[in-house]
Amino acid sequence: MRYGFVIDQDRCIGCHACTVACKEEHQVPVGVFRTWVKYIEKGEFPHTRRHFGVLRCNHCDNAPCIEICPTRALYRRPDGIVDFDSRRCIGCKSCMQACPYDALYIDPNTLTAAKCNFCAHRIEARLEPACVIVCPTRAIIAGDLDDPSSSVSRIVAEEKVAVRKPQKGTEPKLFYVGIEGDLLEPTRLSHQVGYFGAERRDGTSQTTGDAAKFDSTATRVVYDTAHPAPWGWKIGAYLWTKSVAAGVLVVAAIMLAWSGDGVRGTGAFLGVASPVVALVALGVTSSLLIFDLKRPERFFYLLTKPNPRSWLVIGAWILMVYGVLALAWLAIGFFVGVIPGGLACAAAVFGVATACYSAFLFAQAKGRDLWQSPLFFWHLLVHTFTAGSATLLVVGIAMGGPEETIRHAALILLVSVSVGLTMMLTETALPAVSVDAAFAHRAMARGHLSRRFWTLAVGAGSLTPIILAALFVESIAMAAVGIVAALLALAGLWWFQQLWVEAGQSAPLS
Ligand code: SF4
Repeated sequence: MRYGFVIDQDRCIGCHACTVACKEEHQVPVGVFRTWVKYIEKGEFPHTRRHFGVLRCNHCDNAPCIEICPTRALYRRPDGIVDFDSRRCIGCKSCMQACPYDALYIDPNTLTAAKCNFCAHRIEARLEPACVIVCPTRAIIAGDLDDPSSSVSRIVAEEKVAVRKPQKGTEPKLFYVGIEGDLLEPTRLSHQVGYFGAERRDGTSQTTGDAAKFDSTATRVVYDTAHPAPWGWKIGAYLWTKSVAAGVLVVAAIMLAWSGDGVRGTGAFLGVASPVVALVALGVTSSLLIFDLKRPERFFYLLTKPNPRSWLVIGAWILMVYGVLALAWLAIGFFVGVIPGGLACAAAVFGVATACYSAFLFAQAKGRDLWQSPLFFWHLLVHTFTAGSATLLVVGIAMGGPEETIRHAALILLVSVSVGLTMMLTETALPAVSVDAAFAHRAMARGHLSRRFWTLAVGAGSLTPIILAALFVESIAMAAVGIVAALLALAGLWWFQQLWVEAGQSAPLS
């Protein structure tokens, strides 16, 4: 059995009865929607035409929201309905990033994710979903797609139907008849500052920048619901602190091996200060992750109700192992003074895993095409070296560490920032993998994020530290130059990672 919907947009009159019935059935709070009707207009006055699109969860057969959910709060029932259990939800919002259709929202009362669940309680009572019952034109039809005699199966087999974003491979079980093609391509639409009957909420990904310009000849959205970007500065900051936490021990391990006396400690600098910085940054990383949750008091569900396929869970395990290794490094560095080669190697391996697992987590956010970039893993790897070498450079100069070690840190900084800058520019110059990714690239390189990208991430955060680090390598006595280079490189990393999070969410999903 596979329950699915057919929505016949040729019959839809845009009355919102389905939205209201759903709100009543599920007590959906003001400002959020399990189903909504989007209006678009085409043509120039007086030759305009309005089209409607009824949007909601597609109950995908290959649902990315289920895969990413770290606590298995989202799940597929045996009848094919994708349902959720708000008692397990920690409010991480990753499902909102994974869903390519804006189907999920955070319920402002429970602070947990919610969406259309096909009125599963009504299905169990052999009733049809509330929206089906209320629709005055029978535009919404629900039924079993595995039953060839059902209305939905017959329509799907006999009529011309369309699904939203088939290229995502989610295998939606919501089929549209007669839907206007532009409703299926949200980045094609012109988004205005206001709607014909309502004001727009600020803070949605669609109100900003390029998409906000009015064009009377373009197909334009005239009624919609707000879909604010789920992740904000805390996720950008988490990437940054994680790069620092991971980078210091990865670079410290390299410098121990490079220092000529094997893995013998070079005093308090690499033996004690490095793991202390790593542990503090790791603590801040974990705090940022926890306080970004809508239900932070449930963070331990990551361990007690884990979905082992979610990179949020795999990431939590990696962070824990890395924390143990950093503690061992600190204890041995403090009490023994010589870091065993095996420990340095293990810390370096788990340091790289700590820094780079987010590439797989972001790739599970299937709704965001920019984050599917195959370069993102390599960006994070290079960031590990930049963050680690910059931090150790500052700490080493402040502690009066060995000159040779400080020079090694400066060299690693110089090379990693240069590689990072090349990759950043390549990322925006290469052809984008999709329309949404191109939208995000444009936002960064030429759109509303471009000023921060070019002045902060490229100019102040990459080019300047490259010049200063090169000067410092030549003349190691200029401590202030080395420190400024390191601090600017760290700031450049922060700016780029914040922009990456923001740009990824700039393309509208619905
Ligand atoms: Fe529904 Fe989106 Fe999950 Fe698909 S990915 S089942 S549309 S919430």
